[in-house]
Order: sequence, then C-alpha cells, then structure tokens
Amino acid sequence: MSVQPRGYFSAINGARPMLNKLEKLIMAHFGSCFCEAVKLEATGSPEAMGYCHCRSCRSWSGAPVNAFSLWKPEAVRITAGAEHVATFQKTQFSQRKYCAKCGGHLINNHPAIGLVDVYTATIPTLAFTPGVHVNYAETVLPMRDGLPKLKDFPVEFGGSGEAIAE
Ligand SMILES: [Zn+2]
Ligand SMILES: [Zn+2]
Repeated sequence: MSVQPRGYFSAINGARPMLNKLEKLIMAHFGSCFCEAVKLEATGSPEAMGYCHCRSCRSWSGAPVNAFSLWKPEAVRITAGAEHVATFQKTQFSQRKYCAKCGGHLINNHPAIGLVDVYTATIPTLAFTPGVHVNYAETVLPMRDGLPKLKDFPVEFGGSGEAIAE
C-alpha cells in the first residue's frame, strides 16, 4: 500500500478557504451592549492590553479602573444595531461610543494613535492578559501586581513614558 501525498495535499489546499474562515471565527471575540441591541466583533489579537487609571475612564465607566484592549480599527466591526451607536467626544483623543438605547458602553476610538479600545468587559471571551498600567499617577485603586506603572501614557501615545512606583 502506498500513501499518496499529492492527493492528501491537494485535499488540504481545497479546504484552505474553509479553514481560513474557521480560523477567523476561532480568533473572533463577540460582544454586545447592555441591552444587546448593538453587537460587535473583534478579530485576531489586540495590539495591547492593560489598565487605565485616568479620571476620564473612571468617570465614564463608573468604575475605579478601566481594563482596555487596543485594536487596529479594521479588526473591530459593529455587526448589529449600528443605528443605535452614539458617540460622545469630550477630548480630541477619545471618541467614546455607546448604545443610545441602554447607555451601555462599547468602544473608545483613539484617532490620534490609530487604535480602538474595546473595553474588555464588552468582549468576555477575550483572555485578558494585561501588560501595563497607564495614568497610574491618577490611581484611586493601587494594584500591586508587578506590572509596569506608567505615570501617564507611553511616549508613542504622546505621554512621558515615565514609570512610577506601585
Ligand atoms: Zn444597548
Ligand atoms: Zn483612561
């Protein structure tokens, strides 16, 4: 009996488009607003994850700290209820998007750095592996987890990049 590598490989190649689709699905994270009228999906892996301690994030989220995941804009898609998505922009840096029906928070677009923050609470299937704390100078909830603590933002995001003690 002889194996037929040729036939085997062409079968694999034939399945490639389907495998690509499957891979994309496996890599996708699905989320929704509080009332579930707005649904979104983030595909692939985020560029960065961490915690923001700034006053704006605290005020907007109603929580002592915001767990963020930053994505390239093309990785994030509103898949349902786009007509309910409203934007509140207080500063040039942040276009905060929420559901106008329920007030549930969705994403925060940062045009200046070309990234979108999808709140990790919005996409529960994403394994949250934080790498950094930003705006730690403003913290009201010190977190002694050994991760780097930046006073404000990294240099590439227009900050000082300065690290401070936990
Ligand atoms: Zn909603
Ligand atoms: Zn913040």
